[in-house]
Amino acid sequence: GGPLQQLNFDNSYARLPEHWFQRTNVQPLESAHLIAFSPAVARWLDLDPCSISPDELVRHCQGQPGWQGVDPLAMKYTGHQFGMYNPDLGDGRGLLLGEVLNRKGERYDLHLKGAGQTAFSRFGDGRAVLRSSIREFLAGEAMAGLGIPTTRALCLLGSEQYTQRNGMEPCAMLLRVTPCHIRFGHFEYFYYTEQYDDLRRLADYCLQRFFPQLLQLEQPYRALYREVLERTARLAASWQAYGFVHGVLNTDNMSLIGETFDYGPYTFLDYYEPNHVANKNDHQARYAFSRQPSIVRWNMAALAQAMLPLVTRAELEEELGCFDALYQSAYLERMRARLGLQAVDGDDVELVEQLVAIWSEERMDHNRFLRALAEWRPEHDPQAGTLMAFCTRPEPMADWLRRYAERVRQEAASDPIRSQQMRSVNPRFILRNYMAEEVIREAHQGDYRPLHGLLPLLRHPGDAHSTYARYAGPRPGWAASIYLTCSS
Ligand code: AMP
Ligand code: MG
Ligand code: MG
Repeated sequence: GGPLQQLNFDNSYARLPEHWFQRTNVQPLESAHLIAFSPAVARWLDLDPCSISPDELVRHCQGQPGWQGVDPLAMKYTGHQFGMYNPDLGDGRGLLLGEVLNRKGERYDLHLKGAGQTAFSRFGDGRAVLRSSIREFLAGEAMAGLGIPTTRALCLLGSEQYTQRNGMEPCAMLLRVTPCHIRFGHFEYFYYTEQYDDLRRLADYCLQRFFPQLLQLEQPYRALYREVLERTARLAASWQAYGFVHGVLNTDNMSLIGETFDYGPYTFLDYYEPNHVANKNDHQARYAFSRQPSIVRWNMAALAQAMLPLVTRAELEEELGCFDALYQSAYLERMRARLGLQAVDGDDVELVEQLVAIWSEERMDHNRFLRALAEWRPEHDPQAGTLMAFCTRPEPMADWLRRYAERVRQEAASDPIRSQQMRSVNPRFILRNYMAEEVIREAHQGDYRPLHGLLPLLRHPGDAHSTYARYAGPRPGWAASIYLTCSS
């Protein structure tokens, strides 16, 4: 067999109690073909990217019997959707194929999204459309390129099978790879069904699998909650620092290891708008950009509620009470890096707040502004024409730049070193919705070259990629009308 046959499967989740999941076979797609592939993800699995053929990937994702070690199952979970508890969730259009143990002893879930109906499909057909699957594939590569924790995918398959969404759309499949498919909603399922022994067993499983170092502590369950809290606060901070709007921050879309999880109508802000809502179905603006930190804290409260049989209320409340401070310090750390500040100064909070206020007032393309700031030499260019061009009202910006220039003088690093450091965290390329729309439009015509062209930009967003210079510019006017929904 080929390299995929050699993968070392060890399916710990499939050994858990039978009522935690439903074994389900993959339903193949008509005329499936490979669209895209991630060499970096292949390396996680000890696969040599050059030795895997498209044909082999397609055959294996099509559920061909005889893939040694694969044991496909749909996980049961529940969760809060837009603030309302929904007991009827679960893998409705994806299957956990199995877990691969690599040579370093790392364990990765292979989850095939769009694999057909399951016991938890309720209304849908269990399929994922090409549009959404491309968006998820791109998002994983882009977030990884920015150093933001994320799930990724080994490959993306297209097909000649169609399903009803916005009209008839082609179906696709994505082989998602991450150490963790456990969601906050897994804990909520056992809590709300009062299966407290299973709840404890789930917590033990997560501790052993993801956080074994915590097992030595006096209160491992409390430590588990604390670890998730810290990771989740850091994750939210990185979203806010880069202008990422998740779009559907339901508790079933929250990963226990603090990765960005389940990409739908996500958006990287083209312009800094605190009230931006990525998902047109979100009529209450519950998941608006600026609300994400407090929504994530709300989700952490939902997880705390679900852990009440394991940890006292007072202890969980004490941990949850740390969220804002953890978030603020992680956010400040990200912003300091983006501003090229290594030293720690008590006034940095104010420096950042003042800048963010200007971004909001000016609806500024903050990612392009920060890239330009990386190139600024205060000594040689006190007028800062390039930066001033981002604003309509000059005074606040000029004020801020004076303050920043003064602050930068306290830094040990020289300007060129600071620029270099800033370039590494301030991408030239951001995955804007219009870029995804362009490659989706072409993919619907059967041309995957634009998608392939975009991938190097997302994986190395700080590099020049001179033939793609237009993607480093502001968004084109037509992009203002892009319409994303839960089905995106
Ligand atoms: P999501 O909005 O992607 O987080 O999905 C919410 C719930 O709906 C999950 O339980 C999914 O498994 C289920 N779901 C989403 N799309 C489909 C579909 N096409 N077919 C069946 N179930 C789906
Ligand atoms: Mg989901
Ligand atoms: Mg989804």
